[in-house]
Amino acid sequence: MRPSCKRCVACNRVTEESSKIPFCSLHVRAYENLIVGYVDWRNAYGDLSPKEFLERVRDNEYSGRWVREVAGAVLSHEDLMQIFLNDLSSRGMKD
Ligand SMILES: [Zn+2]
Repeated sequence: MRPSCKRCVACNRVTEESSKIPFCSLHVRAYENLIVGYVDWRNAYGDLSPKEFLERVRDNEYSGRWVREVAGAVLSHEDLMQIFLNDLSSRGMKD
């Protein structure tokens, strides 16, 4: 197996090699929704840390399944959390 053959952290599918985050294409889309969702959430509810936001998404049964899985994966992987925070700040979400 080539070392570039990585698997999705959330569902263990083989990920696309070009992806900078360890998610399959389905979970990458959910991840993008999370980034956008955080912006919306903050606009609606005011101050909420990225970690609190992820916990709420993960524990909310009305969140989509994919999004909940991504939120859980980010919360349990420090390196993913760092990427998530970087992506937020690169979109102007830094305080
Ligand atoms: Zn996946």
